Amino acid sequence: MHSILVANRGEIAVRVIRAARDLGLRTVAIYSELDRDAVHVELADEAWNVGPAPAAESYLNVDRILEVAREAGADAVHPGYGFLAENPAFAEAVIEAGLVWVGPPPAAIAMMGDKIVSRRTAEAAGVPGVPGTIDPLTSVEEARAFAAEHGYPIAIKAAGGGGGRGMKVVRGDDELDAAFEAAAREAEAWFANPEVYLEKYLEKARHVEAQVLFDRHGNGVFLGERDCSLQRRHQKLVEETPAPGLPDDLRAAIGEAALAVARAADYESAGTVEFLVVGDAFYFLEMNTRIQVEHTITEEVTNVDLVAEQLRIAAGEPLSISAAPRPVGHAIELRINAEDPAHDFRPDPGTLATYREPAGPGVRVDSGVRQGSVISQYYDNLIAKLVVRGRDRDEAIRRARRALREFVVEGVATTIPAHLRILEHDEFLAGDYDTRLVEDRMDFSDLPPTATTTLPEEEELVERSVTVEVGGKRFKVRYWSPVLAAPSGSVRPAPRRRPPKRSRTGPGGGGEGIVTAPMQGTVVKIHHKAGEAVTQGEPVCVLEAMKMENEIVAPTSGEIVDLRVQVGDSVSAGSVLMVIR
Ligand code: ADP
Repeated sequence: MHSILVANRGEIAVRVIRAARDLGLRTVAIYSELDRDAVHVELADEAWNVGPAPAAESYLNVDRILEVAREAGADAVHPGYGFLAENPAFAEAVIEAGLVWVGPPPAAIAMMGDKIVSRRTAEAAGVPGVPGTIDPLTSVEEARAFAAEHGYPIAIKAAGGGGGRGMKVVRGDDELDAAFEAAAREAEAWFANPEVYLEKYLEKARHVEAQVLFDRHGNGVFLGERDCSLQRRHQKLVEETPAPGLPDDLRAAIGEAALAVARAADYESAGTVEFLVVGDAFYFLEMNTRIQVEHTITEEVTNVDLVAEQLRIAAGEPLSISAAPRPVGHAIELRINAEDPAHDFRPDPGTLATYREPAGPGVRVDSGVRQGSVISQYYDNLIAKLVVRGRDRDEAIRRARRALREFVVEGVATTIPAHLRILEHDEFLAGDYDTRLVEDRMDFSDLPPTATTTLPEEEELVERSVTVEVGGKRFKVRYWSPVLAAPSGSVRPAPRRRPPKRSRTGPGGGGEGIVTAPMQGTVVKIHHKAGEAVTQGEPVCVLEAMKMENEIVAPTSGEIVDLRVQVGDSVSAGSVLMVIR
């Protein structure tokens, strides 16, 4: 293995490039037109354009990515997380193309990608799942009977779900029909798999997950656990290791269970087995067959470079460690996202007008941005991962506070003020918290809006081309430069590097009853048919974007005279959804 293609963007692409470089490997980056100047593109030895901004046309464009791998002479592919990382068909295509796949076998990805199958696998390996069903749900009556037996709340979950999506929590009979309908609809629309199943929704649970590493020679190790209970919308916000207050025997039992589940899947590479812990009991939740966002804290306390291990394992080498290392100290990761804690952590894409990362003892920042970078509505809104390490939990917490105060981000709202508040909360300080703390028992609504600094308008760039000769061979080179310096002749505007400004209020940028999409996304529900009457402020459709359902409301009262979209359509920011007169 000499040259590795990193099929991702942002901080994880940067992370993989760094590990590959540390091992002396050549790196090939891919980028969408929006990411032409991204940090990962600059850091790699070479970088290839794989298509326009929408991920479906670039970072998910399997044919183009494999074509680049071939042309660039890469002999391995690392998928990072997200995008194609847990797509067994992609893993297989990589292997079929004669390349090394840096990840688990496609069969293990497929097995764990279906939550119903993975629950069955875990149970067969002697690791019980959260109490629930292990067959797909066929009717709402089955759910009603389950609730009658186990009591509310229950969770209806999509077999293909992930990333905090595809789960509906139901608290009473009156909510059941609507939740069942929504869960089935979302499962079909988002995961192309309509199957849903049931779990008891555990109220006072902690999310504790186990990091494992397996090589091709049957060696597997448990590298410790991470507590990821601090969440909003069932997505992680803060992670720490060791899990505070977790008894040693419970930690060991969780490690054994994780190894058993991974073995049952014939696992290879880095993986994470997730559990919900209630008191002394723990239940299998799912297994993630990839490197995870929060792998960093395990690295900080074990001194094992997990991405480098993935690369070594893929090259057929045995694990560099034979037993689980004893964790040294305590590490915490704080996800710095472009979102507004004062408004239910809603995404707030935009330009990083000022951006200064903290540093100093015990502080690590994994990011893929710099000042001027755009956090685009097309991708994840993670700006950076702030990872702090201390000799003990108290020192780690003090460092986290110090580093958060050093971190300067202007131009978008961020999770920084929310983190500072979490780090002062009694339950957090006592190390005795559960998955509901952030959403149910904390209030962020009074947090001040972010300082906004605006950057000077970006110069309009045009594409030009020039013919050059290198070593006697002719090459046509495309480049972009400001309009003013344009020589006469034909030029065409470069694809915009920044998305158009987004309307903050959501609906109807078009005025006069024209309802436009405030952001790029997918239409998941339309409340009315053409010809029906609506009143101002009434929800008219639901747009799924940046992992959230966004309700679009009527800007004016009247009749829907033109309905331009249907459920399942992908729309870009500004496209007309319907016209109300
Ligand atoms: P995803 O694949 O979307 O990450 P998970 O099944 O891993 O979904 O769950 C994500 C989070 O949702 C968990 O960490 C937990 O906070 C919550 N959750 C999931 N299932 C349950 C459940 N049965 N009871 C309580 N909380 C749950």
